[in-house]
Amino acid sequence: MKLAFFGAEGKVGRALIPVLERAGHDVRGFEIGEAIDVGGLDAAVDFTSPDAAPANVRSALEQGVSCVVGTTGWDPQPLHDLAVERGLRLFVAPNFSVGAVLMMRFAQQAAVYFPRAEIIELHNEAKKDAPSGTARMTAGLVGGDPVIHSVRLPGLVAHQEVIFGGEGELLTIRHDTTARESFAPGVLLALEKLAELPPGLTVGLDRLL
Ligand code: NAP
Repeated sequence: MKLAFFGAEGKVGRALIPVLERAGHDVRGFEIGEAIDVGGLDAAVDFTSPDAAPANVRSALEQGVSCVVGTTGWDPQPLHDLAVERGLRLFVAPNFSVGAVLMMRFAQQAAVYFPRAEIIELHNEAKKDAPSGTARMTAGLVGGDPVIHSVRLPGLVAHQEVIFGGEGELLTIRHDTTARESFAPGVLLALEKLAELPPGLTVGLDRLL
């Protein structure tokens, strides 16, 4: 596919673009301030910031280009109608790592038996939003409005623990992302399945697995 990549020079962009290219995609990187001219491309990928993503995605949709978005900390729902009107797909996943999706699934299963849980999410100090999109999504799946603790420190990539407390026992489900290349299979899968999705907004890698 011919792809636009918003956030090409970011930490995720630098890790993902070589993998997308090795998989046969033709990637045109866009950095901040560049004119968003994506007409004629097959899809746009956005890993930028909560401030930048809404305008990038709107602009791509207005130019007839479907989007795969990993940027967290913004609400894509207002763009659903625009995507439907244009017959385009807007796929957003707060976490493209398969292990993290499984961690969320297992947490949802455990929540049936353990009604009390808290979430600790740990990310690199440069991450702009807190709590993370993954922690918010996990909280929604677990239910009961669990407390979320956010840690931002150098040395971290992306990590999360869901701790369930019961009478005389604790259950901890933990996922660690140690390299940003772990997001690549999920992004490749989203690009592959994009045309099969219904027009409009689809949220979560779980929907594709
Ligand atoms: P980052 O290192 O800060 O990279 C973001 C890049 O986007 C920077 O190079 C930034 O440029 C650029 N940018 C900002 N505004 C832009 C615009 N309007 N158009 C094009 N590029 C623009 O952040 P990151 O660690 O790569 O993460 C990016 C986003 O992805 C964050 O929201 C993060 O939470 C999310 N994320 C999601 C997943 C997932 O699996 N869904 C995984 C990891 C990260 P400047 O540096 O010049 O501002």
